[in-house]
Amino acid sequence: MFDVIIAGCGPTGALLAAELRLHDVRVLVLEKETEPKSYVRIVGLHIRSLELMETRGLLDRFLAHGRRRPAGGFFAAINKPAPEGLDSAHAYLLGIPQPVVERLLEEHAIELGAQVRRGCAVTGLQQDDEGVTVELADGEHLRSRYLVGCDGGHSTVRKLLGVGFPGEPSRTDTLMGEMEVGVPPEEIAAKVAEIGAIHRRFWLRPFGGGVYSVVVPVAGAADRARPPTLDDFRQQLRTVAGTDFGVHSPRWLSRFGDATRLAERYRAGRVLLAGDAAHIHPPIGGQGLNLGLQDAVNLGWKLAAQIRGWAPDTLLDTYQAERRPVAEDVLDNTRAQLELLSDEPGPQAVRRLLTELMDFDEVNRRLIEKITAIGIRYDFGEGPDLLGRRLRDIEVRQGRLYGLLHRGRGLLLDRTGRLTAGGWSDRVDHLADPAAALDAPCVLLRPDGHVAWIGDDQRDLDAHLSRWFGTPAG
Ligand SMILES: Cc1cc2nc3c(=O)[nH]c(=O)nc-3n(C[C@H](O)[C@H](O)[C@H](O)COP(=O)(O)OP(=O)(O)OC[C@H]3O[C@@H](n4cnc5c(N)ncnc54)[C@H](O)[C@@H]3O)c2cc1C
Repeated sequence: MFDVIIAGCGPTGALLAAELRLHDVRVLVLEKETEPKSYVRIVGLHIRSLELMETRGLLDRFLAHGRRRPAGGFFAAINKPAPEGLDSAHAYLLGIPQPVVERLLEEHAIELGAQVRRGCAVTGLQQDDEGVTVELADGEHLRSRYLVGCDGGHSTVRKLLGVGFPGEPSRTDTLMGEMEVGVPPEEIAAKVAEIGAIHRRFWLRPFGGGVYSVVVPVAGAADRARPPTLDDFRQQLRTVAGTDFGVHSPRWLSRFGDATRLAERYRAGRVLLAGDAAHIHPPIGGQGLNLGLQDAVNLGWKLAAQIRGWAPDTLLDTYQAERRPVAEDVLDNTRAQLELLSDEPGPQAVRRLLTELMDFDEVNRRLIEKITAIGIRYDFGEGPDLLGRRLRDIEVRQGRLYGLLHRGRGLLLDRTGRLTAGGWSDRVDHLADPAAALDAPCVLLRPDGHVAWIGDDQRDLDAHLSRWFGTPAG
């Protein structure tokens, strides 16, 4: 009997497993593939994800494998630099191959004691008052108290639950792959500049050694059962660019659509959904994986609290209440970006107008805060603007604030020096630091780094400690 079984060892499942292990929860991750994925999809880790990695002491591992790039220029690929003074100690984007992200997160989960079993596809589930019985493709049955479907956009768990996934089907496909080319780099650069100005979902980017990353749009949605071939690429390149650039010797070929869908519910009894299993959208602005990482960090401590027995009654349901609106917002911004990428004259005119408007700092800032997820504010009720937002990494007496969040516990950051975490000190750390660079007397941070309370009154604090961290010990 495990506490939690996670279906899927993609980035969301792996990080969730690690988050649960921080609280000694017995976790098993079931992954249907026998080997880690090999296709090299370069993803961008945006600011909030980099901050999350820093709060768990992982950022250096990621920096060692990625390339830092400026944070701006991601909203519909409109080429505007990020505004000055973004509210983060990590105001950049990290370009990093997705398989590396997955490997680092899986290693982290295993280091913390999670079990990962590969070649195990979840095919059935049944839940009762005590737990969930999970059926595997080979007929084996496993038991756990909770199950989380982190099994991607085609989630079996979501389908088995009968949770609806309404939205828009894919209308246009894009071919993406890595291959060698047969024409000189200057010729490619000139053609890409010419065509890329109109077809914004078209590019050839050199990887070195004559290998290029090739992205080319396809009219309509293709037969999903048929993997793309090199001939498909040649034909589409000729249609869009008038030449196939002599492409040959592919490393890998893939195709993705632009479907946009959101799960009707994130929880059905003892089964929850996270990451692409709960939301899918076109990869414009590079937000999907980032969104899944945030889901994992939001859910991990709440599910752990439920299992450890100290969760307030409604805590687990705040996962959907907080995260579903964030996904709705991301889906909407990708819908808007998709329109702005269209080569039709109307959307192109709107794009020119928005490009002009982004010269206003506030417009540019709002858009970048959406894409990088540092603008998220959960609804914790009335209060100062900081309430519900994540707190940036600041200097504190013991070093950096995020360094104090590695264990995934709550934190009382107290400039008054007279407050206490009292009976919650087994779940919440207390740092008295009159000099902390904080615009408030005291803040209570949840394990995901969001501000759960601001004030200087012990009774008010105790009420909020109860709200988020349950009944005090003893
Ligand atoms: C071309 C492209 C570029 C992208 N670029 C970015 C980017 O720059 N930034 C970004 O944030 N996002 C990007 N994304 C999106 C990102 O790849 C996904 O959002 C991310 O992979 C979702 O992670 P996940 O763990 O939720 O799901 P997945 O990565 O889909 O992982 C799900 C896992 O579950 C396993 N699984 C499936 N079914 C079962 C089952 N029945 N039992 C057990 N295991 C199962 C799968 O094998 C898989 O390992 C991009 C996507 C595409 C297509």
